[in-house]
Formats: sequence, structure tokens, C-alpha cells
Amino acid sequence: MRSLIERLHREHTLAPDEFRILLSQCNDKDLSYINALAREVSHASFGNRIFIRGLIEVGNRCKNDCYYCGIRRSNHLIERYHLDEETILACCRHGYELGFRTFVLQGGEMNDDEMIIRTVSSIRKEFPDVAITLSLGEKETSVYERFFQAGANRYLLRHETHNELHYRKLHPETMSLSNRLRCLADLKRIGFQTGTGIMVGSPYQTIDNLIEDILYIENLQPEMIGIGPFLPHHDTPFAMMPSGSLNQTLLLLSIFRLMHPHALIPSTTALATLSPEGREKGILAGANVVMPNLSPVIQRSKYSLYDNKASLGAEAAEGLLLLEQRLKVIGYVIDKGRGDYNAY
Ligand code: SAM
Repeated sequence: MRSLIERLHREHTLAPDEFRILLSQCNDKDLSYINALAREVSHASFGNRIFIRGLIEVGNRCKNDCYYCGIRRSNHLIERYHLDEETILACCRHGYELGFRTFVLQGGEMNDDEMIIRTVSSIRKEFPDVAITLSLGEKETSVYERFFQAGANRYLLRHETHNELHYRKLHPETMSLSNRLRCLADLKRIGFQTGTGIMVGSPYQTIDNLIEDILYIENLQPEMIGIGPFLPHHDTPFAMMPSGSLNQTLLLLSIFRLMHPHALIPSTTALATLSPEGREKGILAGANVVMPNLSPVIQRSKYSLYDNKASLGAEAAEGLLLLEQRLKVIGYVIDKGRGDYNAY
């Protein structure tokens, strides 16, 4: 196992059968070892600095019905909300004062493209120096182009799984893996710094599925990689499914860090929700980004993708001091720069 891990470190890839061994036979000692190597690689690229992104959850209305997601269309038990342009701008002003230089606008999928284009233009005009990241799901090519022209720089769209059969177990027939992959190809071609990724331990996920995901991501070479555990939401068809495992998430974070030394990899809110020290463990496994919540406090609980989603304390933009203290304990500091992808 050690020699496999060392070769992954040296050569940034392995054969599918070797990934299978790594994913199925990694014990606690091996995990500590790969986490330590991934941490070294992250240090070589970013030092002990962690980039922060201000996450603005712009709305929880969604036309999709993903079986895993708490804001899916068929969940009639949540209160729906939608932030208007002025409210999003107010969040950015607050974030800018706190020192954020990247804003991430994330939300359910809606036909609100014109409002988003206006909002991105306004943010770009008022804050020429920030990075604007969008995470608004699948759109037509022309819409992505207009988002980019309006001033958006980055786009996050997890592919969720690269396997057709697994994709079908997670999504209804109205959605398709081919469209999701078309979107990711578009985003890259248009010039967005593009992020993709998966939920670790999503229902019915197999080791072979994970290998396909690793190889797809290796081929895509995204600038950002979002890896977090699946967590059940009580009002979805997957309410009774088990959460993804902490160790498997930490292993995958380290694998991706060894394969993509310069990628921007968040230690996700889902990981911080799964385990009290999840955020720190993610960083110690090679992650280099955290995304504190900058949404209006009264709306936060409505963006409930999964149960008990953390949005306060060190997960909140107003908790930056607490985050700073917690990072200090593990030897890291917050970097308030834009934190663009830098391949050298
Ligand atoms: N609609 C956009 C999209 O599909 O990319 C953005 C919003 S979507 C809620 C953002 C991400 O939340 C998804 O890519 C998914 O991986 C994650 N997510 C949704 N439900 C989840 C769950 N139950 N556990 C963990 N992550 C979840």
C-alpha cells in the first residue's frame, strides 16, 4: 500500500486496479500516511494559507428532483425563498467589508438567468477586484457564455457520478448525465475556472464508480474539485440511507490532492457537518479552501440540502475570527486574496 501511495505522489496517477486496492484496502495507518503526503503537496502549492469564499445561497427553488437533495422539487415541506439582486449585493458588501474577495452564488435550478446576469454585472461593477463564482446548475451554452461576459469567473458543477447506471439511481429520467458532462465541457471551453466533484458514499455508489470518477476528473483537469460526504435529508427518498464515511472522504481528498497538486479543493460544509472536526481534518488531508456562509441569517436554515447542515459558528462569514482561531490550532492562516487557480 505504501508503495502505491508513493507512486501516486510521484506520478500523479495509478492504474484502475491500483486505485481499486487503494480505495478498498486502505487501513488507518495508510490513511494517515496518504493524508500527510497530500498535506505536504498542498503546502508546496499554497503554504499554510487557506483561501476563503463567501457562499451566498441565492434561493432554494429548484425544477430538478434529485433523490438525494433536500431542496428537490417534490419536497413540499420546506419553505421556498429567493434572494433578489439588492439582497445579494448587500451580502457582497457585507462580505467585502469582512475581507472576502470571492463570492459564490449557489442555488437551486430556476429560469432566472436574466436576474443572475444583471446581478453578476452589478457585482462586477461595484467590486472590480473580486472573483465571482456561480453554482446554479445546468444551463444552455449561450447562458453560460452570457454569465461569463457579465463578469463571472468560476463555475462549480459537480458531475455527481460518471456512471450512467449510478446516475440513474440518483436522478429521475428528466435529467441526464450526458447533459451534465456537456455543461462541464462548455464551462471549460468558455474559460471559466471550473469545478466538479462528487458526494462520497452517495447511495448505490461502488468502488468501480469512484474509479470512473477519478479517471473522469483526471481527464477533465478541473481547476476546483468538490468532494464531500453524502448526508441524508429526512424528506427525500434517501432519508434512510447511511451517510458517506469520514475516512473515505479524507482518503479521496488526499487522492485528488496527490493527482492535482494545484487544484482548489474545499474542505466542505458537509464534512464539517459529518464530524465536529471535519473541516480541520479535510485541510489536514490536503484541502486548501473553506466557504463560510454569507447568506442572510434568516434564510440559512431553508437551504437544507441535508439534515443538520452547519451554517453558524466557524461555518459562517460572521464567524471568521472563530475560523481563524480553529485554523491556527492546526497551523494554518486565512488568506484573504482572490485565490485564483495558478498552475505553477
Ligand atoms: N443546482 C446546482 C447544482 O446542481 O450544481 C447547485 C446546488 S446543489 C444543491 C449543490 C450540491 O449540493 C450538489 O452538487 C450536491 O453534490 C450537493 N448535495 C445535494 N444534496 C446533498 C446531500 N444530501 N448530501 C451531500 N451533498 C448534497
